[in-house]
Amino acid sequence: MRLEVDEERLIETMEEQAEIGATDDGGLHRLTLSDDDERIRDWLREEMEELGLDVRVDAFGNMFGRREGTEDLDTVLLGSHLDSQPYGGIYDGALGVVAALEFVRGLEEEGIETAHPVEVVNWTNEEGSRYQPAMQGSGVWAGVHDIDEQYDQTDEDGNRFEDELERIGYKGDVPAEPTEEYEAYLELHIEQGPYLEEGDHDVGVVTGIVGFTWGAITYHGEADHTGPTPMEYRSDALVAAADVITQIRRIPGTLGERTVGSTGYIDAKPNSINIIPGEVTFTWGFRDPDDEIVEEAYQRVLAEAEAAAEREGVDWEWEERMRAPAVEFADQCVEAVAGAADDAGYDARRIFSGAGHDATHMTEHMDTGMVFAVSENGKSHSESEYTSWEDCHAAVTTYVNAAYELATEDR
Ligand SMILES: [Zn+2]
Repeated sequence: MRLEVDEERLIETMEEQAEIGATDDGGLHRLTLSDDDERIRDWLREEMEELGLDVRVDAFGNMFGRREGTEDLDTVLLGSHLDSQPYGGIYDGALGVVAALEFVRGLEEEGIETAHPVEVVNWTNEEGSRYQPAMQGSGVWAGVHDIDEQYDQTDEDGNRFEDELERIGYKGDVPAEPTEEYEAYLELHIEQGPYLEEGDHDVGVVTGIVGFTWGAITYHGEADHTGPTPMEYRSDALVAAADVITQIRRIPGTLGERTVGSTGYIDAKPNSINIIPGEVTFTWGFRDPDDEIVEEAYQRVLAEAEAAAEREGVDWEWEERMRAPAVEFADQCVEAVAGAADDAGYDARRIFSGAGHDATHMTEHMDTGMVFAVSENGKSHSESEYTSWEDCHAAVTTYVNAAYELATEDR
């Protein structure tokens, strides 16, 4: 059988959640552990309780709503996040939590029981804007981050994470770790890229998440007067950095079809109009679905950095700050999503995610999959983020039927 999604109800629910933390320009400003985060959590708790779910909150604020299954089987976990970027959009994260709610609503409405227990989850601080790192709640839960270290993170105003979690009343008493046996995790998210729209597809079957390397290079030149110093005497740290930054832009074009790279941060010292820059630190970031290409990009940027240091006569050092291997999703999840899209008559495209998601951390513990909804112009983390209701409906319909498949089958 196929579950139908009531489009009117989906729209109403999306509009309702978007009122909490709404901006004047139709976006969402719902930073983690803010007063609006408290309000949206209260809203979710109420929605879950109305559906008869057994609600629990863990010690890191992750919220779960459990519906028992008819058999003694592992749990299927469904959800995403309700926090937003500063002046972000109303779909990023929220559509995934609403989709999980819609699944349970569909079951309740049809009086369907599933063999597996199912849980709806709202992960704490996926966005990583007020507190770092991103995907913090799912990372703690999955055992990737130490909870005490994360409690001690502070925001720009010096507010400790744990204090803020207590302030909004969402430091729960359940340990922030898997307290059940889990079968699978399924997350719906907007694509945040242009590929689905470009190909005129209805929905995305996510097959994995790109791997990446992040790091920083520092050049030590010689700070000096920009006037009297002859050109051949200069060791300009910023010139060396500029050479490498343009290469970081060019390297992806010589590697894979999906390779991307940028410099997102630069710090030049002393950063004064009349001084040759003596010290410059900047970052690289490369992503690709293929770990070997990520490694190649990493080797290339270091080779470029060394060549630039020689040309400019500056010393240099580097540090790789993070390396994440590409993640491939489990067959049973990918096929459940592809099958659900197919059954509903949607034109689905298999796609790799170019961004990290809470799903990344779930792969450590259980079979994982994702559904992507079309993102108009590929835009996100912005008030102009947009997915039509029709595209929301297609993605949610695909999602609930894939979830149904995972929760029904005895594997
Ligand atoms: Zn998100």
